[in-house]
Amino acid sequence: MPTEMGAPVLYIRIPPELKRQLGVYKDERAQTLTAAVTELLERGLAAVADEPSVEERETRATRLEEELALTRIELAEANAALTALRGRELELKTLGERAELTVGHCPSCRKAVRGTDVLLTQRCPNPDCGRSFKSLLLPTKAGANSVDRTELLVGLDRTELLVLLGALGIIVGAAYVQSRAGN
Ligand SMILES: [Zn+2]
Repeated sequence: MPTEMGAPVLYIRIPPELKRQLGVYKDERAQTLTAAVTELLERGLAAVADEPSVEERETRATRLEEELALTRIELAEANAALTALRGRELELKTLGERAELTVGHCPSCRKAVRGTDVLLTQRCPNPDCGRSFKSLLLPTKAGANSVDRTELLVGLDRTELLVLLGALGIIVGAAYVQSRAGN
């Protein structure tokens, strides 16, 4: 801003070092001292006016803290979901391995029967036999009163079968809950 002869005059005392720096500044730009001081004052005032207020900085800091907290929660949730998935994977693997174990023998042909034969196909694995095992899982009226021995697998490992059934129930239940949560 050009200064005129009739402009107001400012008398201030400044440290000698600042006075020396001002001299260097005006000489480098071939300015008068008045022009150099006026320019520097204007630039200084503009910079101060552009500075975010303390309130603005606090608001911004609060927002960043909230975002950080949210990110931490999301990270923890993602980690928990990953751990749960790994656990589920292990359960399935264990169940798959257990289901392949022999749990007894077919009462008709005496062939070894695996957990999968009882739980999934519900039939004797021997193609020449193919006896249904449905009555092993669903109690019949006759079975409620007296044990119908012809319907039981020979040497049936009931504990193994119950463990398999329990594990299957947990996994089906977990999948059901997950499908509900996903909708
Ligand atoms: Zn059979």
